Amino acid sequence: MGCVNWNCVTRYVLVCYSFAELAVLLAKRDLRTTENQINHSANSLTKGGRVSSEANGPGCASSLGINHLKLTFLGAAGEVTGSQHLIETDARRLLLDCGFVQGRRAESRRRNERFQCRPKKLDAVVLSHAHIDHSGNLPGLYRAGFRGPVFCSEATADVVEIMLRDSAKIQAEEVRYLERHLKPGHPSVEPLYSEEDVDGIVKQFEPLPFDEWHELAPDVRLRLSDAGHILGSAIVELDLEDGDEWKRLVFTGDLGRRGLPILRDPTPVERCDVLISESTYGNRVHPPASDLKAELLRVISEANAVGGRVIIPAFSLGRTQQVVYFLNELHNDGKLPVIPMFVDSPLARRLTSVFRDHKSIMNANVQNLLETDADPFGFPGLAYVASQAESIALNRRKGTFVVISASGMCENGRVVHHLKHAVSDERNTIALIGYQAGHTLGRRIHDRQSEVKIFDRLYPLKAHVEVLDGLSGHADVEDFRWWFGEIAKAGGIGQAFLVHGEPESSQALAQVLDEFCDEEPILPELGETFEV
Ligand SMILES: [Zn+2]
Repeated sequence: MGCVNWNCVTRYVLVCYSFAELAVLLAKRDLRTTENQINHSANSLTKGGRVSSEANGPGCASSLGINHLKLTFLGAAGEVTGSQHLIETDARRLLLDCGFVQGRRAESRRRNERFQCRPKKLDAVVLSHAHIDHSGNLPGLYRAGFRGPVFCSEATADVVEIMLRDSAKIQAEEVRYLERHLKPGHPSVEPLYSEEDVDGIVKQFEPLPFDEWHELAPDVRLRLSDAGHILGSAIVELDLEDGDEWKRLVFTGDLGRRGLPILRDPTPVERCDVLISESTYGNRVHPPASDLKAELLRVISEANAVGGRVIIPAFSLGRTQQVVYFLNELHNDGKLPVIPMFVDSPLARRLTSVFRDHKSIMNANVQNLLETDADPFGFPGLAYVASQAESIALNRRKGTFVVISASGMCENGRVVHHLKHAVSDERNTIALIGYQAGHTLGRRIHDRQSEVKIFDRLYPLKAHVEVLDGLSGHADVEDFRWWFGEIAKAGGIGQAFLVHGEPESSQALAQVLDEFCDEEPILPELGETFEV
């Protein structure tokens, strides 16, 4: 067929070939990979499975001639962004996630620009979910020469395409803004990737249904199961043949919580030799999510009583749909005041239509609801605002109404305009439903500062501020304890690695996890390599 790289073979085979035929084709490819391997010395091996990353570098496992599974942590190690982990056997090089590093601008830019995983030599990427800190640099990987398949769940494929197109658009806008404001002679600024790179990587997506083993090659099997974190989020189970034995690696991606609206609970898995687990809230217990529905009703009713408007800044992916879902339930129960409500975010509007396409993977409550209500994300009185003109018109609107708008931390997007027109009237309410990072407008409102700066002008903050907690999509320590316990009961956990957490959170979770594992859990450092 004249095309020997794994991507072309796999894509073609998924349509036309059986897995037996795939085995023959991939065996041919293996020879090619072996010829390309770089020869390194095995002297840099150290005790305890830790390998010096400086001496060896990622991508050298296959040349060591040792049948060990090799893991290199290239992001989200001792931090909460830039999820990226390289998995190597003698024959394979797989990347788990390819997220954006977020934080200080220059440092993030440097790390997002330079891949340590040798993109052209990767066989495939397995993507856990669509959040940008796990997926955001996939187009960059394509730009750097990666042409293999990206395996992910069916809903993730739909959600992540929208997120990546939005990311490319934001970068292009930022570059245009910087070019207008940079001093003459300053080097030009380039986006990390373009819409064309997004087009390229999207063609590589290989969506897989949940809960089925997929034989990707004779030595690689993959199963995705619901992580319950956002729509489509997956727990990754990889069976890898490593010399004479098979090893099972489980990667949580981001683990969700039990009892969240819309989403199913995280799936317990059977067993694993290697566990890579997130640890974002490994030292925290969340308040129950169900309180939020009652709180929303109270806030809206109180605003209605005084004729004020309610502004709800919300992330476009997940939070917006959860709030709308609660409002829809309140409407169905006849409890919601009859006032106009608006979702004003083009991104949230597009993402909600993806939610409507994937109702079958939502929890039992949604399935029950669907028997009497075909659309859990719409009800009479709720409008999804499309044009900018309609959005601007809301600022002049009189009386009580509710606006759910992005961004969640009030830093950009249409919500900033709504806040500008709402903060200085004591009849209005600003309901914050998500985490507000330091130095954001959301945090200043959260802290009820007497004046807040919006678009370089100070406005007195007279509006009522409500902080509604309880919708975090991350497992807390009790969810982790339950999920680890289920694996330990079923078949056990061998060696665990904790990633995607601030050090104090990961350390706290390591103590919890220790009682369920054969080996003491490891908190890898950035760039560190392990053999297991
Ligand atoms: Zn996430």
